[in-house]
Amino acid sequence: VVRPGSTAGVADLVAAARRHKVALVAQGGNTGLVGGGVPHMGEVVLSLRRLDDVGPVDRLAGQVTVGAGVRLETLQAHAAAAGLAFGVDLAARGSATVGGMVATNAGGSHVVRYGSMRSQVVGVEAVLGTGQVVSRLGGLVKDNTGYDLAQLLCGSEGTLGIVTLVRLALVPAPRDLVVGLLAVRSLAETIELASELRWALPGVRALELMTGESLRPVAEHLADPLPVTADAEAYLLVEADGGSTSVPRRADPAEDLIAAVASTVPGTAVVLDSAVATAEHERARLWRYREAHSEVAVSLARERSVIAHKLDVTLPTAGLARFCHDVVALAKERWPGSEMLLFGHVGDGNLHVNVIPPAGSAGEGIDAAVLELVMAQGGSISAEHGIGVAKKPWLERNRSVSEVDAMRAIKAALDPAGILNPHVLFGR
Ligand SMILES: Cc1cc2nc3c(=O)[nH]c(=O)nc-3n(C[C@H](O)[C@H](O)[C@H](O)COP(=O)(O)OP(=O)(O)OC[C@H]3O[C@@H](n4cnc5c(N)ncnc54)[C@H](O)[C@@H]3O)c2cc1C
Repeated sequence: VVRPGSTAGVADLVAAARRHKVALVAQGGNTGLVGGGVPHMGEVVLSLRRLDDVGPVDRLAGQVTVGAGVRLETLQAHAAAAGLAFGVDLAARGSATVGGMVATNAGGSHVVRYGSMRSQVVGVEAVLGTGQVVSRLGGLVKDNTGYDLAQLLCGSEGTLGIVTLVRLALVPAPRDLVVGLLAVRSLAETIELASELRWALPGVRALELMTGESLRPVAEHLADPLPVTADAEAYLLVEADGGSTSVPRRADPAEDLIAAVASTVPGTAVVLDSAVATAEHERARLWRYREAHSEVAVSLARERSVIAHKLDVTLPTAGLARFCHDVVALAKERWPGSEMLLFGHVGDGNLHVNVIPPAGSAGEGIDAAVLELVMAQGGSISAEHGIGVAKKPWLERNRSVSEVDAMRAIKAALDPAGILNPHVLFGR
């Protein structure tokens, strides 16, 4: 493991790796879920954690420049201290780094409001696989001077260049946050409600789906009974704000939320029950039900001495309800006794399909069956976690031959010696 402390140090390492034909695997917080930051074939780990400089917040531009090794939580606290906020949030915030988030184009809970990581990136400094350093950190929001190299590095999973510094856009600090947990009659109606709330609720920041079958074991595991009926088919967690801290209070976001739900599902019994929280600890409690899903899936699998199959996919919004129905039916039919935690950032059409096979079963074929279903219904096999090594065999099935050829040509041009994450993305 090599831990350089500067862009020049990274450039020296890349030069040495090129000379000696040694493969490098970039690693930030190692929270990636597809094995992209892990050496599988004896590669040298290039840890970016020492690149943790945090520049002053430029309030005039609403931007900040930080090192690739800065943890998301540190960035969030830094922006908050300057009265602003960062637009991306995810449960791995205590470990995930800015460089890793750029390299995976991380999404998270607030994409519905602010977009994914690429929407926050204004510029980067990086060492390409050619050994050349590219640096464009001037903070120009509009800059149509040829190819946008920063955007090319977003989602490149360490295969084209090593990101060392990032210029990021910040967003207004939200005021008067409200979180609602809505117990909804059916899954299809939960998806419709989420779609409508994007237009009806002015300060919407997150729209998270959990099926009843997934939320009930999570609540049980947390030993925290749900504050709403436990009998619903699906649940929607909604977060909204009441404007920004820079301006006086606009409206009561809790009233906005209740009015938006009422106007979306007038006069029906679609929403069976609801809990609304404004105090920080109450909001955190409602979020905990959603954020604990991933760890509860692992715990449930451990109790059965099996491995949880975790898939992160997107479907076209119109086909989301059908996919949810079909994937649950598929698991029940092909792997009887399996448990399914189905949840996700439904505002972006993003579902996390976690299947825990029955005790004694490796769940052979689950990943393939779920991903086949996704592709058959026009979806993407990776919504926000990337391809890494876990989904390599599927890339060429999910993207056309011409698209993959173009990707390979870019890889060959920027990493001609093939030393950057050579076992990620392409090949079987
Ligand atoms: C509990 C939990 C919740 C999560 N929730 C979400 C979520 O909601 N949304 C989401 O999108 N992801 C989520 N993730 C996945 C993960 O947090 C993100 O992919 C994150 O962006 C990875 O950052 P990292 O620093 O840990 O990168 P790593 O895991 O270290 O690396 C990830 C990839 O980026 C490359 N890389 C790392 N640093 C650099 C660099 N400086 N330059 C070039 N390449 C680099 C690596 O080679 C690897 O391919 C979650 C993970 C966990 C454990």
